[in-house]
Amino acid sequence: MTEDTSQPAEQTPQAPDGPSQAADGSSQAADGSSQAADGSSQAASPTTEDTPQVTDHGGGVWAIKVPIPDNPLGHTLVHVLDTDRGPVLIDTGWDNPASWDTLVAGLAALGTAVADIHGVVITHHHPDHHGLSGQVREASGAWIAMHAADTEVVVRTRASEPGVWFDYMSDKLAAAGAPEEHIAPLRAARASGRMRTLPGLRAAVPDREIVPAELLPLAGRRLRAIWTPGHTPGHVCLHLEEQHPANLPGNGRLFSGDHLLPGISPHIGLYEAPEDPRVTDPLGDYLDSLERIGRLGPAEVLPAHQHAFTDAPARVRELLDHHEERLAGLRALLAEPLTPWGLAEQMEWNRPWEQIPYGSRNIAVSEAEAHLRRLVKQGHAEAVPGTDPVTYRAL
Ligand SMILES: [Zn+2]
Ligand SMILES: [Zn+2]
Repeated sequence: MTEDTSQPAEQTPQAPDGPSQAADGSSQAADGSSQAADGSSQAASPTTEDTPQVTDHGGGVWAIKVPIPDNPLGHTLVHVLDTDRGPVLIDTGWDNPASWDTLVAGLAALGTAVADIHGVVITHHHPDHHGLSGQVREASGAWIAMHAADTEVVVRTRASEPGVWFDYMSDKLAAAGAPEEHIAPLRAARASGRMRTLPGLRAAVPDREIVPAELLPLAGRRLRAIWTPGHTPGHVCLHLEEQHPANLPGNGRLFSGDHLLPGISPHIGLYEAPEDPRVTDPLGDYLDSLERIGRLGPAEVLPAHQHAFTDAPARVRELLDHHEERLAGLRALLAEPLTPWGLAEQMEWNRPWEQIPYGSRNIAVSEAEAHLRRLVKQGHAEAVPGTDPVTYRAL
């Protein structure tokens, strides 16, 4: 399932998208494209000036840096989109008092208030994006829109019993070849009944569905949803089909959520959940979604972390190359049969395996499994018959 619910016991939300940061060593890619973000600041309202928390992107679009507590990602960029019916938020930020205060202060700096928010459009269900949505809705009466596949995750997580999750995680880790000492804390927590609350249990259930390829009903704006599954099953990018305010060449602007970030490769794990029989290929989904965004050719990308950037097709190519290299590297490792856990131990992360914390190891294994799934689907690897836990070898 997703990383948010896959880190029980000690290490709760050490990283909401943290896998990428915590575990994926691919953070070094592109950079230096932040001038596009700042360069386009001149258009909008004369009452707002850039503050450390607020960036004016022009054309009725602002970003508020909402902090994520104790996380290397630092902040979520919550975007504010002006419409004829009032401001709309794209994502809301982490559910935490300091994050809420920052959001409120950012809106005040724009001359508006939470009570004025007309709608909330969520790129994906992760708590650094959807965490404050319920509080915004309570304070404003705004609707909350999300893709059906992520709404399903929200509903399922709210309904899930921690005990079921702990059993599921224990079984899943055992099947992936995790050593007993890694699984033992889960079993012990389960047996003692002292299970840490899972993030996402209180997440707001959206009231509207984001339908792929359709325009959102926003008065005076053209914002189209593009379904980009991979990081989550219902991740969407939102394409603002309007001329760039600084006339940068390209096709409008893209709110890319976590799908396309300038310097981080987002975590791609398995989507699976207890009692969900579907076998998915999230990495395959992600790579397809990347190509879709590359073809779109937006003039500027406004991601949910880091900073705005231009030349989306170049960033897409980098990420496609990165994953192709990584898959090739894993295939070489699989010359010797390995369990998913064994593969994760040998994969390259941003620090040695011994230093990766407990919860992030679970995320790393999920990422290893997503890559194995892809290699099997491509006919580059296979499960070794009769092995338990299952090992995989290259073909
Ligand atoms: Zn995120
Ligand atoms: Zn995310």
